[in-house]
Amino acid sequence: MQNKIILLPSQLINQIAAGEVVERPASVIKELVENSIDAQATEIKVVIEKGGVKRMLVRDNGMGIAKSDLALALSRHATSKVRNLADLEHISSMGFRGEALPSIASVSRFKVSSCIDETQAGWSLFSQEQNPKPEGHPKGTSMDVRDLFYNTPARRKFLKTETTEFSHIEKVVKRLALARFNIVFELEHNGRTRFKLPIAHQQQQQNHRIEQLLGQDFLKQSVYFEQKKAGLHLSGWIGLPTFSRSQNDMQYFYVNGRIVRDRTVTHAIRQAYQDVLYHGRHPAYLIYLELDPASVDVNVHPTKHEVRFRESRLIHDFLFTTLHAVLAQPQAILNVPSALEEKISPTHLLNQEPVQGTLSGLNLSGVREKPATFKANYEFQKPDEKPILSTTPSPPIEDKIPPLGFAKAQIKGIFIVAENKQGMILVDMHAAHERIMYERLKTAKAKEGIVSQPLLVPMAVYLNQQDADLVEQYQAEFKSFGMSVERLDQDKVVIRAVPALLQKADMEQLLRDMLADIQVNGQSQRLNEEMNRILSTMACHGAIRAHRQLTLEEMNALLRDMEQTERSDQCNHGRPTWIQMTVSEMDQFFMRGR
Ligand code: ADP
Ligand code: MG
Repeated sequence: MQNKIILLPSQLINQIAAGEVVERPASVIKELVENSIDAQATEIKVVIEKGGVKRMLVRDNGMGIAKSDLALALSRHATSKVRNLADLEHISSMGFRGEALPSIASVSRFKVSSCIDETQAGWSLFSQEQNPKPEGHPKGTSMDVRDLFYNTPARRKFLKTETTEFSHIEKVVKRLALARFNIVFELEHNGRTRFKLPIAHQQQQQNHRIEQLLGQDFLKQSVYFEQKKAGLHLSGWIGLPTFSRSQNDMQYFYVNGRIVRDRTVTHAIRQAYQDVLYHGRHPAYLIYLELDPASVDVNVHPTKHEVRFRESRLIHDFLFTTLHAVLAQPQAILNVPSALEEKISPTHLLNQEPVQGTLSGLNLSGVREKPATFKANYEFQKPDEKPILSTTPSPPIEDKIPPLGFAKAQIKGIFIVAENKQGMILVDMHAAHERIMYERLKTAKAKEGIVSQPLLVPMAVYLNQQDADLVEQYQAEFKSFGMSVERLDQDKVVIRAVPALLQKADMEQLLRDMLADIQVNGQSQRLNEEMNRILSTMACHGAIRAHRQLTLEEMNALLRDMEQTERSDQCNHGRPTWIQMTVSEMDQFFMRGR
């Protein structure tokens, strides 16, 4: 190798950049569709042939590119979106680096056609040529990409099958379509239409789009919410814990209309679900966060999937608190009509001017004025109120019948049958009671402490020496859980008082289980973190056992408790505690009315 320094030719520079931005056909689609969004298109059509390797065409009805700018659009570091450093600090467009088009053009046979005004003819330019040629084109732009990686065989080798590449493309278009309800999206593969999504201004149309893209189940089993605070605006649909998934494949989080993967965000969401999700399962959600663009840095990575929040602690806490509150609402009482009437749409989704609207509406730094379009949407809610919630679909509430209805019977000592407005409710008695106990214990522990009740006759318990050591070592902690227990001998302890809430529980077994929890989780500092686990163990022991006969009053009391208790739709392990069977579902069983 010669040690002579040369400047690389621009084609090679672009190909090097393409290595970062253009990983596979789907990355091309992402860049092109984002450009169409930035061009304020209201219709975007994506046509794919052979998984995108043969051809990808993205056509929009946006503002177009002037004839004199066509060549410039294909050159490196050429952009219409930023002018100076100040612009870079509050980016509101999807693009800003000015490197997507030249990169794509350097690794494919590329043609751009565009027209800026319907009264004029359009122009097109092949990437290898100098001068645009006239071409009939309606107002808007078409980007035509053929034979991707034809000149970079190394890259080409990494491509997967046509089906796989197309499925990546579909995912990309889906993500973008979920972020912009104000744009018609159409996707076609090998001459067949995959989907055509109409504009969705109304909530119902939005539901329809979500149903088409994420499935009916997600929509049915999610809650719409909306919350704002300190210049942050959070809204979206979050999946109920019972709609958990084995993969994290249904998690959409948008920051100012841009999908991101962020550790702060993921952590806050996971924490919000922590107490209600079955172990090892993943929540499903579609969430939009909007904030002043100046308080988030999107210039972290060329693909812009990562962001950096200036105040990540604030974001974390806001997310956690909001989602935690949403998830704590028992489903049965969610269906309050007033919450439904004023369903609001995430603002940027409807805004006709994404560049301006999405971001500048919230005035953290006082940089810009609030555009009028925001008002109607944002002023619905005063800050710091409980989030607006609703479920889909939502039955109307009937006068005096409580949401979970009135108890009718007990089955096999395990289930309670109740009748409510919609039909029949079936409750897993132990699971429901366990959750109620758990929430009470948590509240008590956090507030005045768990009230303890001395035993009339102290109870001696024989343990192995190791466990007896633990009793001695953690005596104070046991006290804080409402248990007074002392060591008497090498292998003998005595329980003198127990939590008042758990008087009926088998105390010896509870003590052994708590010791097992402590064994597993060790160290005393950790004990506090594991507090919920221990409380959960306690709740399990305190909850009504199967096969206990309950009176109707007791059953009704349990139903009313469930309506009042946060997170009561799932037991402590994330399983559902009750199900509804509507009259029409029952009719279907018996094929009535057919
Ligand atoms: P960036 O999006 O970062 O500005 P690109 O290389 O993706 O860089 O695009 C370069 C420029 O080409 C954009 O700034 C924009 O002015 C123009 N452009 C690209 N795609 C379109 C389009 N679909 N409609 C109108 N203008 C476009
Ligand atoms: Mg771009």
